[in-house]
Amino acid sequence: MSAEVMSKAANRRRGFLVVLSGPSGVGKNTLLNAVLPLVDGLQYSVSATTRPPRPGEVHGRDYFFLTDEEFDGMVQRGEFLEWAEFVGRRYGTPRAFIEECLDKGLTVILDVDIQGAAQIRAAMPEAVLVFLLPPSLEELRRRIYGRGKDSESAIAERLSWAQHELAAVTDYDYVIVNDDLQRACDQLRSIIIAERCKVSRSDYPALIASLREEGKTP
Ligand code: ADP
Ligand code: 5GP
Repeated sequence: MSAEVMSKAANRRRGFLVVLSGPSGVGKNTLLNAVLPLVDGLQYSVSATTRPPRPGEVHGRDYFFLTDEEFDGMVQRGEFLEWAEFVGRRYGTPRAFIEECLDKGLTVILDVDIQGAAQIRAAMPEAVLVFLLPPSLEELRRRIYGRGKDSESAIAERLSWAQHELAAVTDYDYVIVNDDLQRACDQLRSIIIAERCKVSRSDYPALIASLREEGKTP
């Protein structure tokens, strides 16, 4: 393949974002942990937050836990791709890491709330938006209590906000019901694989050019 064709192919292979949203406690983290090892070239984006760590959460792995001042600084310097307030705490996606990954052709998966997803859709219309639904509100309540890592008031706030979040599902591209984890995992994996095969994301002009070149060779 010629250098020119190669470079066009590289341009076309920029990565893309997969945004996963759904009410707190629905199983986003559980699902992400199940899917990440199964898909090559899939990278999780660690968010920043001003909420305190839950027991067992690790700075830099689960979140970058920031003070209000640190978060303000990042907002002022334009270092977030998106950020939003969720039940009294702020959460944001660091921009530099995302750009770096997209330049490398990676698929970046993010766990952001419905406000963040709307900002990402506006900034990057090619992003793929996936909404994770609970099988029932009763089960959502069971899971969030079962996790047992939030205060009573934090749980109450998350459950009451959940009703509002569910209505946003119509703005998403895909919906998955997290009933059986294995099935939800298969579905998310399939979505990512299918999205990678889209003609608009592929390097088909370069491939066709190389097939034509090959055809000319006796
Ligand atoms: P989120 O990241 O959406 O806030 P978590 O991944 O922390 O939610 O999951 C909340 C709780 O629900 C955890 O205790 C987790 O083990 C449980 N859970 C997640 N998915 C399922 C599932 N498919 N079936 C039963 N329990 C689940
Ligand atoms: P939790 O405190 O339960 O970890 O997360 C609360 C909510 O914040 C969840 O709905 C989660 O999707 C959302 N969230 C996590 N990281 C980000 C982020 O970087 N940006 C936005 N907008 N929301 C986030």
